[in-house]
Amino acid sequence: MQSIKDILAKHTTQGATTEAATPETATQETARQEAVIQAAMLPKAMLPSQHDARSEGRRMSAFNCPICLDRGIVIEENLARPCQCMQQKELYNKFKYARISPNMMQHTFDTFVLEYYSRCLADDEKNRSYYESARLALHGAQDFVNDYLQTGTALGLMFTGPVGSGKTFLACAIANALMAADKNLLFLVVPDLLDELRASIGRKDAENSEQDLLDAARTVPVLILDDLGAHNYTDWTKNRIYSIVNYRMNYQLPTIITTNLDIYELGEYLGDRTSSRILQMCRIYKICVEQDIRLANYLARENKK
Ligand SMILES: [Zn+2]
Repeated sequence: MQSIKDILAKHTTQGATTEAATPETATQETARQEAVIQAAMLPKAMLPSQHDARSEGRRMSAFNCPICLDRGIVIEENLARPCQCMQQKELYNKFKYARISPNMMQHTFDTFVLEYYSRCLADDEKNRSYYESARLALHGAQDFVNDYLQTGTALGLMFTGPVGSGKTFLACAIANALMAADKNLLFLVVPDLLDELRASIGRKDAENSEQDLLDAARTVPVLILDDLGAHNYTDWTKNRIYSIVNYRMNYQLPTIITTNLDIYELGEYLGDRTSSRILQMCRIYKICVEQDIRLANYLARENKK
């Protein structure tokens, strides 16, 4: 008979399912199913903690993972398998700041409001209305998710536009859609990534060494680099960004980028070898907005009073 301890140990085995590799006897199967169900019903505190940092400041009733309700396992047709949040947790542990906040969890394709974008004002460069640009960006994001889920790969995306134009919203919506479909990804806010990398210099522990952080960003199935903007890049940080982008291009791993720079400005900040790789691996969507959407929401809220 399999003990709860064994089952929990299996749950922490990345990528493995608890489905037995060899045929089981009826008794064994019943015992296993009972143990699995028992494990699933254990109080949260007895199961491996999934999202300690993300739990902070959240109400007790809210679950960090809507798929497994923070149990760490999912039961389908009487078989338990580790929830994708387990692998996510391991990835996130490498990056102190690489977490999608509760606020960002609410950003989905369904809650993206196209009405924020003017149908009258036009992006002269492309000769299309702000509304049309936003609609194309939204569809580009949805197509990315569909392609990725169907084929396991997709051309990356770069959303460029001013502050408050909805770029990060779309990146979050992609992240949420992929996580809902059990896919692993890293959502990295670039200034935080740069801080993490700087802090990791000379660190000896294998867990969070610079190499480890870079390897995770290079090899994660989907990488989201939020705010690859006008930061103070040193030659050292430029090289790190280049090595991530270059690896991902070579292995055709999709990358989603948000930036308030256009591709030429990105080249000025990061070097042409990086921007030309981004061009090769990403489809670019420019989003224009008349007024910062956060400001528009602020005014709408305050004017209601
Ligand atoms: Zn989960």
